[in-house]
Amino acid sequence: MLIVFIGPPGAGKGTQSLRLTKYLQIPHLSTGDMLRQAKEEGTQLGQLAARYIDNGRLVPDPVVVSVVGERLHQPDCQNGCLLDGFPRTLGQAESLDAYLEERGTPLDLVLELSASEDELLRRLVRRAELEEREDDTPEKIARRLSDYRTKTQPLLEYYRRHGLLESVDGMQTPDEVFEDIQKRIKARRI
Ligand code: AMP
Repeated sequence: MLIVFIGPPGAGKGTQSLRLTKYLQIPHLSTGDMLRQAKEEGTQLGQLAARYIDNGRLVPDPVVVSVVGERLHQPDCQNGCLLDGFPRTLGQAESLDAYLEERGTPLDLVLELSASEDELLRRLVRRAELEEREDDTPEKIARRLSDYRTKTQPLLEYYRRHGLLESVDGMQTPDEVFEDIQKRIKARRI
């Protein structure tokens, strides 16, 4: 089962991804986690990615696409996975489609988790206090939210046209959000 999870920073994708991958018994592929790990390991790719991540900017498409492509090749992903934070641009979505078509494993579902801008800001400021993430400063948060609106939101229409999109209200409690997600999955019989 191949699922894409889309949502602005602070919508609760991280929390819900963990619950969902446990429930569905599929690997969790978070490009944010993968890039941060490469950064910590200090690999060439990590050093390149760090310049973007630390400024709250999107890492260039070819870099992210190659990281995800390599990961999708691993044996544990042959029966599917949850893609969290990828794709984030139309270019990435088209690359993913081309890759999956070649593999003969189309996407099953795209989940959107939405929340109001006020709520996102509130949650991100709180997360900044708790986690000390380099990219959770007010200026970088604003950039990430603006990139989400201009570069990632157009994907929702793209996936809606393909009949793959389910939009879930991320303003509900975490338990309610997860129940909602489970309902959508059951209704689609995937
Ligand atoms: P996240 O943990 O998903 O918020 O991602 C943290 C950061 O990693 C983002 O702000 C970007 O700099 C980078 N990143 C993660 N996923 C992608 C992606 N699909 N495309 C470009 N940059 C990404």
